[in-house]
Amino acid sequence: MWFIITTWRCNLNCKYCGNEPRPYGEPSRISYDLQELKTFISQDPEPIIAFYGGEPLLSAEIIEWILDNIPAKHYVLQTNGLLIRKLRPSYLNRLDTILVSIDGRQSVTDYYRGKGVYKAVVSNVKYLREIGYRGDIIARMTVSGKSDIYADVRHLIDLGLFDHIHWQLDVFFDAPPHQRYADFQSWLEKYVRGLDMLINFWLQELSKGRLIGIVPFQGLLKILVLGDTPKPPCGAGQSAFAISTSGKIFACPVSPSDDFLVGHIKWSKPADLAGKMTIGSPCTECEFYTSCGGRCLYAKTTMLWGEDLFFRVCSVTKYLISRLRGLIPRIQELVSSGVISWDSLLYPPFNNTTEIIP
Ligand code: SF4
Ligand code: SF4
Repeated sequence: MWFIITTWRCNLNCKYCGNEPRPYGEPSRISYDLQELKTFISQDPEPIIAFYGGEPLLSAEIIEWILDNIPAKHYVLQTNGLLIRKLRPSYLNRLDTILVSIDGRQSVTDYYRGKGVYKAVVSNVKYLREIGYRGDIIARMTVSGKSDIYADVRHLIDLGLFDHIHWQLDVFFDAPPHQRYADFQSWLEKYVRGLDMLINFWLQELSKGRLIGIVPFQGLLKILVLGDTPKPPCGAGQSAFAISTSGKIFACPVSPSDDFLVGHIKWSKPADLAGKMTIGSPCTECEFYTSCGGRCLYAKTTMLWGEDLFFRVCSVTKYLISRLRGLIPRIQELVSSGVISWDSLLYPPFNNTTEIIP
């Protein structure tokens, strides 16, 4: 899966973004020849292309060129949702998955992302439905100090606009640590209580035959049931790479720094990149490694918040995995009695850039 950074520019200035202390040094716009990108990706027999940024739709013309000229098995767009109408409907409809950033309730979304963002995003997702978009629309949340996981996910479920809801915790991406939390430990404890309520609600609805698309639950169940996951689950450094605006290839799209540099579209071959970066210790010695997969290569490599906080978040990851593992016998009963099928439950069908573990 190839993240194509169409630009590093963005039309928003969200509170939790851009606090990364490392120097970037990448051009704001694509500076390589797009034919070189085409040649590089043509050497991958089953590429997935994910448009990413910055805000990728600030370079909508590049997205359209790639859709017209570079064949891929799947196309994915991650967007802040404000510029969706810049891509013509015939191109939007060629995307398998669109991930739209929204943090839950209006007050939380607008606090982190800017006043008026919530309403604009909701209006643009409605527009996607109006033009007949039939792919997978995912609400992509950043969950931070003002988030209430139960209230915010329930709000997005009740909106009825999204096929799936996914979230990533606002942890480990910045320094100094937990600057957007009044009391990080108390927040984590509240988060776990909210997760419990959400799992209970999800299972209750599932028992009635209603499958609510919650990516961390479905994705983890897939890992637990099928037992085979990339490490980390997002595939960074193994099966997922980011092609930056200079043509450099990084193991993770979050940080185009030398620590994650694995190649360049001019002289690398896709097949040579797999395994260029691996998770390593302490994850490889962890009893949850098979299911957690090391969670996030970026967090593990940079350790920006230090080991103590790293392991505190691990305890939440382990709790989530254990809770979902405990649901499997009940879900198996539901499958056996025909209420639900494993096929509909196990998600995602391909690496659509949802990292699975929040
Ligand atoms: S729980 Fe923590 S230590 Fe264990 S594999 Fe996951 S990230 Fe690594
Ligand atoms: S989960 Fe971590 S390693 Fe994977 S893409 Fe996201 S930031 Fe990068």
